[in-house]
Amino acid sequence: METETLSEPPRRNLVGLGREALAAEMAEFGAEPFRARQLWHWIYRRGATDFAAMTSLSKPFRDKLAARYLLQRPAISRALGSVDGTRKWLLRFADGEEVETVHIPEEDRGTLCVSSQVGCTLTCSFCHTGTQRLVRNLASEEIVGQVMIARDALGEWPSPQEDRQVTNIVLMGMGEPLYNYESVAAALKVVMDGEGLSISRRKITLSTAGVVPMIRRCGAELAVNLAVSLHAVRDDIRDRLVPLNRKYPIAELLEACRAYPGASNARRITFEYVMLKGVNDSPADARELVRLVGGIPAKVNLIPFNPWPGAPYECSPDATIKAFSDIVFAAGYSAPVRTPRGRDILAACGQLKSASVRVRRSERPPLPAA
Ligand code: SAH
Repeated sequence: METETLSEPPRRNLVGLGREALAAEMAEFGAEPFRARQLWHWIYRRGATDFAAMTSLSKPFRDKLAARYLLQRPAISRALGSVDGTRKWLLRFADGEEVETVHIPEEDRGTLCVSSQVGCTLTCSFCHTGTQRLVRNLASEEIVGQVMIARDALGEWPSPQEDRQVTNIVLMGMGEPLYNYESVAAALKVVMDGEGLSISRRKITLSTAGVVPMIRRCGAELAVNLAVSLHAVRDDIRDRLVPLNRKYPIAELLEACRAYPGASNARRITFEYVMLKGVNDSPADARELVRLVGGIPAKVNLIPFNPWPGAPYECSPDATIKAFSDIVFAAGYSAPVRTPRGRDILAACGQLKSASVRVRRSERPPLPAA
């Protein structure tokens, strides 16, 4: 029976648990260790939403599981689709708090932009999330749940090995992932597990505003790709845009980037740079940016500022962005200007409200003589 009486304990949700947590839960439940492995397969490879579907388990065992456990995703409070194919899910958790998850399909990949916190404590002055009052960390289950929801909606079960719609994951949604490191790390271990969701660390990018002491740990323990929200090349300007800079100024941040394990030409660190009219967008800023990232295997993502009601900034004009991009590009860095995506559904996902358009050398007009 599905109904719960008051005397029964609430059923625990198994979706989102890591291998160890699932094994511990099954041990406590009195099941043999291989049962935990079977459950893992059903939950993360097959995407089961019902114990009845777990046909490799005996019927009595499935019934016992169903009486004690749930296979639950976060609730979808709203699902929106953009004319350009971008999809956004507003997800609601048990306590009523909401975050957003965005899927951006591109020709050769599909990127899922995942949130790590409800709201954000960083109060970056150009970012809408920073104006939200309520802030709490997401549990690792709630981070994994975002990936499960996308796979459900895109019909991607069992986890495909090729022709996937979710090929990449970026932690560029709401929140600062390095301020919720433990949960993010636990969630990514589930996401990366080859017998489950199976998204490789090479396809995962964690974006940080620059929590310097945690960057090292992230590199050593998770070894995912790193994106850094730089946005300014002088401390006085960055102090205003990203107040965390007062704690970890540019020089320290770049030092941590230089030491990031695994950074190489094949695995470059992404520097995100939001283009704000008259604030950080001059040719001198571009030249200083090139100087600063010198020696770091880097790429630069120029993000047109996505305005929100009451925002104290404007987006730089196209020609300004182009001139900036040309300087960075001429110095040997790829500096794609991102094409805004999903603006009609107000996707608040960092750079993923835009998707990269790589400009190939051959397509670029020659630089004017200096
Ligand atoms: N806290 C992390 C991840 C979330 S923000 C970080 O700071 O990197 C993801 C990206 O979106 C960051 O580069 C952020 O600076 C950028 N972003 C936030 N608001 C934006 C806006 N209104 N327009 C353009 N980019 C924005």
